[in-house]
Amino acid sequence: MLRIRFHGRGGHGVKTASRIVGTAAFLSGFYAQDSPIYGAERRGAAVAAYTRIDTKPICERGAVAEPDLILVVDETLLADPAAGVRVGCEFASALLVNSGKEGTALATELRLPCPILTLDLTAVVLAVVGRGSAQSAVLGAAACALAGLGPLERVLEAVQRELVELGLEADEQARNLEAARRVYADLSAVPARPRLPASGQVELHRPTLAKGAASRPIILAVGNAAARHTGRWRVFRPVIDQEACTRCGVCFALCPDGAITLDERAYPVIDYENCKGCMMCYQECPVHCISERQEVQAW
Ligand code: SF4
Ligand code: SF4
Repeated sequence: MLRIRFHGRGGHGVKTASRIVGTAAFLSGFYAQDSPIYGAERRGAAVAAYTRIDTKPICERGAVAEPDLILVVDETLLADPAAGVRVGCEFASALLVNSGKEGTALATELRLPCPILTLDLTAVVLAVVGRGSAQSAVLGAAACALAGLGPLERVLEAVQRELVELGLEADEQARNLEAARRVYADLSAVPARPRLPASGQVELHRPTLAKGAASRPIILAVGNAAARHTGRWRVFRPVIDQEACTRCGVCFALCPDGAITLDERAYPVIDYENCKGCMMCYQECPVHCISERQEVQAW
């Protein structure tokens, strides 16, 4: 069985990426299973998704603890133990990080026991698709290329099927397909890749259930919400141009996290410690004086 694990933040499209790979595998005649895992957190929170591919029915369920391939959309997740990017990376043939850094530099920095590849997927998305943080098409194409799934036309068919299901307009589909095509071409020649599924006995995963308190969520310390700085979830940072701001207060009223306050002159001020980057203020500002900048700070 080939196991692929995706790490990103809510809004990056890791769930759709896992579906793209599953669909590409299915179209290639394999059994495939894809699933995401996320809690009640919103856009920007760390999420993961999994794809399993085999030549036999897949009975294994749950999180992938021993991945053959890991793809990370946001390199700041590598420093977040709660995101679990490093779990089982000693089993991986490759870990692809969406980064503009050299793979060798990142390998030295991270000291992970598996080969590290880098590709600036965000740059491709921004150049070809335009604005937006959803990277499902390029991420799915990257995983297909590294897993040896192909040919390109079949991968693009899988991408398109998923984008149609999401309801994207035809021109947006076309731009995503072009971005996916570029990423697939870039990564198809990479030698570090996992084994394709081989036939053999599929092991059943038998979950064990803990009893009592261990099996249900508990709040161990009350009143600690203020310590949870959601600013680290941000992929894009809203920046207000005060020269153009009319002080209408729309962003202040609509920010779902109360991360915008008004100063003594009624100009909005963003609390970057807690702004999670949902970009609702950017979307709703009537005079478009809020811009989005790609977040580069690793907290
Ligand atoms: S400040 Fe803007 S981007 Fe940040 S949480 Fe509020 S609405 Fe979302
Ligand atoms: S919505 Fe735009 S114009 Fe209105 S207060 Fe916010 S930044 Fe200023």
